[in-house]
Amino acid sequence: MRKVLACPSRYIQGKGEMASIAEHSVSLGSNAFILISENGIKRYGENIEKGFTERNFPFTFVKFEGECSKEEIERLRKEYTTLRCDFIVGVGGGKIIDTAKAVAYYESVPVVIAPTIASTDAPCSALSVLYTPDGQFDEYLFLPKNPDVVLVDTAVVAASPPRFTVSGMGDALATYFEATSAIGKDSDNFVGGKATVAAYAIAELCYDILLSHGKSAVEALNVGAITQAVEKIIEANTLLSGVGFESCGISAAHSVHNGLTALHETHDYYHGEKVAFGVLTQLILEDYPIEEIEEVYDFCLSVGLPVTLGELGVEDLSRDNLIKVAQLACAPGETIHNTSVAVCPDSVLDAMLAADALGKMYKAQ
Ligand SMILES: [Zn+2]
Repeated sequence: MRKVLACPSRYIQGKGEMASIAEHSVSLGSNAFILISENGIKRYGENIEKGFTERNFPFTFVKFEGECSKEEIERLRKEYTTLRCDFIVGVGGGKIIDTAKAVAYYESVPVVIAPTIASTDAPCSALSVLYTPDGQFDEYLFLPKNPDVVLVDTAVVAASPPRFTVSGMGDALATYFEATSAIGKDSDNFVGGKATVAAYAIAELCYDILLSHGKSAVEALNVGAITQAVEKIIEANTLLSGVGFESCGISAAHSVHNGLTALHETHDYYHGEKVAFGVLTQLILEDYPIEEIEEVYDFCLSVGLPVTLGELGVEDLSRDNLIKVAQLACAPGETIHNTSVAVCPDSVLDAMLAADALGKMYKAQ
């Protein structure tokens, strides 16, 4: 039995680290292609530039044009060749990160990822999600390796709206429960093997950090303070959740998320917010003891993650409406089939309704 653990070659996190991208790129190349948005240049451009200029390190800011699509990747590859750079840096949110990883993969060059929000566990993974130019899901691009460097500037993340980081906690909340199911089913992880004990320990630690530091991190972020709790939560959302999900595997929570995207009213809600409701559904599906279920609801309520479908914009709770979600969640190939029990659209629908009812009850208390 082969076990595989994957992670970025180097992970750096701290206040003001945007200025150290150049320092951490020295061994990767000598001319940086920095993919960033117009807004990103305004906000962090000066700091990034300082690091490169101090080292006489050539670089070019290249503006991202809005979508992680095959067309945008092709455009950037041409620009990359014209500029004669020798590695890629992606600075921004999920789409910029995924585009930078994809361009680096096609050009066979190193990549540095500097996320500016902590809303998902995507920065550390060897995966890009591709969209069509008009923003519809296209396909997953599985990459042969993880980013060479992932660098998180805590001050930048803390300056983003707290809802992003809370959403990241929703994504991170799934890591331990999904890992437990996937490992229980002896399923393969995302990197071609079974989970190592280290990967599972990381998934468990991820959950522990959320419970012990989530609430205080949110309170700090609400007043713009960077505390040790904030640092730990950013690490849990980005590194622990990223390595945990990729090297352990996932299960029902993400399938329920995918199912929820069938309802257009959920489109204004973030990935991690829908995943959080997916976790609640998974706990019911797998019949967790009530004490553990309560612990997760308490956590969600304490940090402001949704515990009802209404909080995700879903007002129509009829079976006719929700069955679309459940059917999509149970589609062949969905990771929901990693759960400890056999599932079908009906059982998923029942679990969603029960999760919603419990959510209403806990909210009222
Ligand atoms: Zn996720």
